[in-house]
Amino acid sequence: MEHRIERIKKQLHSESYKLTPQREATLRVLLEREEDHLSAEDVYLLVKEKSPEIGLATVYRTLELLYELKIVDKINFGDGVSRYDLRKEGAKHFHHHLVCIECGSVEEIVNDLLEDVEKIVQSEWGFQVQDHRLTFHGICKQCQLTPVKATQ
Ligand SMILES: [Zn+2]
Ligand SMILES: [Zn+2]
Ligand SMILES: [Zn+2]
Repeated sequence: MEHRIERIKKQLHSESYKLTPQREATLRVLLEREEDHLSAEDVYLLVKEKSPEIGLATVYRTLELLYELKIVDKINFGDGVSRYDLRKEGAKHFHHHLVCIECGSVEEIVNDLLEDVEKIVQSEWGFQVQDHRLTFHGICKQCQLTPVKATQ
């Protein structure tokens, strides 16, 4: 984690931003909970546990800055909440998500898998793909194993 913070710090510096203690606290929460997809509010509550002096507005501004610098991305799984998601290091495009309609779990697919589709979009529509969002909705492995509960 320290290496990643160091690299992000360098990236901030190259864009003339400093890694202030408030920004670092926010970043640490995102790194610690990388598997999760946290809303600004979630991030704020976790930051507050360790640094009670940091306010929601500061956390929010930090998240927006990290978004502008393409360190995090924003994603919405259809519940109207923007969630912040760290980009994978070295990944050209955003990763994909598998959202379970039974239990709400979210899994990530880090491999792009879309190179062929991107080529077709480029050649058929003359469109230059910069990025994409792909969310699969379905039933996770765990839920497929659990027998359907009788409705009460
Ligand atoms: Zn994700
Ligand atoms: Zn791609
Ligand atoms: Zn499930």
